[in-house]
Amino acid sequence: MAKDYYGILGVKRDSTADEIKRAYRRLAREFHPDVNPDPVAQEKFKEINAAYEVLSDPRKREMVDLGGDPLAPAGGGGGPAGGAFVGFQDIMDAFFGTTSSRGPRPRTRPGADAILRLDLDLHETAFGVEAPITVDTAVVCGTCSGAGTAPGTHPQTCEICGGRGEVQSVQRTFLGQVVSARPCSACQGFGTVIPHPCGTCGGDGRVRTRRTLTVKIPSGVEDGMRIRLAQQGEVGPGGGPPGDLYVEIHERPHDVYSRKDDDLHCRVTVPMTAAALGTRLTIKTLDGEETVEVKAGTQPSSTLRIRGKGVPHLRGTGRGDLYVHLDVRTPTRLEPEQERLLREFARSRGEEVAELSKQGGFFSRMRDAFNGHA
Ligand SMILES: [Zn+2]
Ligand SMILES: [Zn+2]
Repeated sequence: MAKDYYGILGVKRDSTADEIKRAYRRLAREFHPDVNPDPVAQEKFKEINAAYEVLSDPRKREMVDLGGDPLAPAGGGGGPAGGAFVGFQDIMDAFFGTTSSRGPRPRTRPGADAILRLDLDLHETAFGVEAPITVDTAVVCGTCSGAGTAPGTHPQTCEICGGRGEVQSVQRTFLGQVVSARPCSACQGFGTVIPHPCGTCGGDGRVRTRRTLTVKIPSGVEDGMRIRLAQQGEVGPGGGPPGDLYVEIHERPHDVYSRKDDDLHCRVTVPMTAAALGTRLTIKTLDGEETVEVKAGTQPSSTLRIRGKGVPHLRGTGRGDLYVHLDVRTPTRLEPEQERLLREFARSRGEEVAELSKQGGFFSRMRDAFNGHA
């Protein structure tokens, strides 16, 4: 495997000669055996010098950029150990340079949105309510404030990738040598490792908790609507900025009213006689009671409209209407006296009413009429 010389110096692949020189000087000062007698530091110092030797020489640097290793032992070649297969994507990446400048990924990332269902009664959706909600989301860990490290400790630069967050490998393919970069498995691409993770969050920087919020539901909301509470969603990994919380309104079915947009509908049963003679009805509305007039001669399936007694409009002023659907009910059972009166009524209107108990009544004559025997 070719050494990642850019990673060792912590510079980008497109760095200028000057940037490389500055990075080298800084690291050399830090790891010079005179200041840092630690054997690991001495090893590091050698690496830094080798990397600078390569990258400060335009000819050697070009070899590195083509995937080679100018310092590799003769015949070493830099081929894949065990002839690992190089995927087509790797080759494309190498040709189009998509892997060259990714760098370490940040530990802190934005959190996800959360959604919560809120069941409300018609009264609440119509007139609004302040509803307490219980939210179960990730919040910033109180012990480490999102850093993920145990108190008094810090993340350390990953030794495997030198802080780049990715490791490069050079492989031989039918197209020649190909450099491919993969996220560093030692640090998951972060470029740093947390040697002592926070005991509370395990290094994630966030913990799940349950909290109670009050959400203000405006009047006139509808089933399925979502109310956005900014930044009340999930806190991101590493204590990243929280997403939003959406409260989705679900309106419970009402015993009496069904809702269509901002109009309400209800059904009221009216006896046949009341429909014929006219009457007054007291209707329960969302706000109280309303007296409406059923005109004499009202037909089955008639509708009364009570203006402004529906649901308030969410935007603007005004309200929907309440529609009262009238079910005109025919009596199912008549006392003998009632039947006599009804027959007399029919006779007085010249209506023919058959006696169903007798043979050859109304329906039999109807059938004869259809068959042309009348
Ligand atoms: Zn790493
Ligand atoms: Zn923590």
